[in-house]
Amino acid sequence: MSLMPIPYENLKRLNQPFETLFTKKFEDFLAKGWYILGEEVSSFEKEFAAYHQEKHVAGVANGLDALILSLKCCNFKKGDEVIVPSNTYIATILAILHCDLTPVFVEPDIRTYNIDPELIPAAITSRTVAIMVVHLYGQCCEMDPILSIVKDHQLKLIEDCAQAHGATYKGKLAGTFGDFGAFSFYPTKNLGALGDAGAVICRAEADDVQIRQFRNYGSKKKYHNDVVGYNSRLDELQAAFLRIKLPHLDEINSHKKKLASLYLEHLDGQYIKPLVLADFDPVYHIFNIRHPERNRLKEYLSSHQITTEIHYPVPPHEQKALAAMNHLSYPVSTEIHQTTLSLPCSYAHTTEEIMQVIDVLNQFK
Ligand SMILES: *Cc1c(COP(=O)(O)O)cnc(C)c1O
Repeated sequence: MSLMPIPYENLKRLNQPFETLFTKKFEDFLAKGWYILGEEVSSFEKEFAAYHQEKHVAGVANGLDALILSLKCCNFKKGDEVIVPSNTYIATILAILHCDLTPVFVEPDIRTYNIDPELIPAAITSRTVAIMVVHLYGQCCEMDPILSIVKDHQLKLIEDCAQAHGATYKGKLAGTFGDFGAFSFYPTKNLGALGDAGAVICRAEADDVQIRQFRNYGSKKKYHNDVVGYNSRLDELQAAFLRIKLPHLDEINSHKKKLASLYLEHLDGQYIKPLVLADFDPVYHIFNIRHPERNRLKEYLSSHQITTEIHYPVPPHEQKALAAMNHLSYPVSTEIHQTTLSLPCSYAHTTEEIMQVIDVLNQFK
């Protein structure tokens, strides 16, 4: 039997079901001739807000800007400290650095890969102003203890939801816990555009107003610039494409959950699988396993035409860009980075393909 190669992701196939609608939308877009901050952006903002049963969503250019502009709204002082998990995609930490703030790393719980709430209090100092949680791989952080710490210490809470569109904790959606819920619609995310895009859910109307000002050169009124703003507008065409996909987000998530449940059920005992607890409903942006011989396993899968990814090969504190943190030690984070492997688990994959991956994995010796 000759088996077909299984790529980690196939964006063309992922978007194929929407192609006719995209084409129609693009024709309408051309006919209309309105390219920046038009009806598509404002409608997407309303629809994304409605999905979350929230009032305020501001579209921005990408996920990194969603984080940066959220921090900008808080008016923190240079050197103020922001608590952030030691294992995350680098964007979370870059946002803090771009705002002249100091990231303070807290280790994850090795079972969930998310920030360990029990370790947060020890990281709080007189300069701590915020916690930036990351709902990594599509699983929400354990929010109850985090919310009580935020309340006790009067901190701002920013959620990096780039991997968690539609994920819930105790039935509540990622992005609806904090002062800000920052989203990326990078093409591979569970809700992905056909280019760069992002958005911020703001709990307070005043913050929503500020983000809209920051994203458009610091201007509320054309050619009147009140603050030192950016150009970080959600692109009108990307908003139009996102409006087509948003009604299918739950279906995309269900598909990924179904594939994940196959791995959870059938993968043999040599693999450490993600722990799923009762209060959590993850959306598996990434389905990862851990194995002590991760690199050999990746090679083995590759020799069977199965492509995998590593999220992430280098922990943030070991990145050259974060030279000031290179001397620090985060053993849990390092352990995850050394052993984690992300398996194919996309809207574009079939159950047959995933069963094939499982078959090959269970023969690994
Ligand atoms: C993708 C991602 C981002 C950044 O999103 P962009 O749209 O690429 O800027 C931020 N944080 C996390 C956790 C991500 O996965």
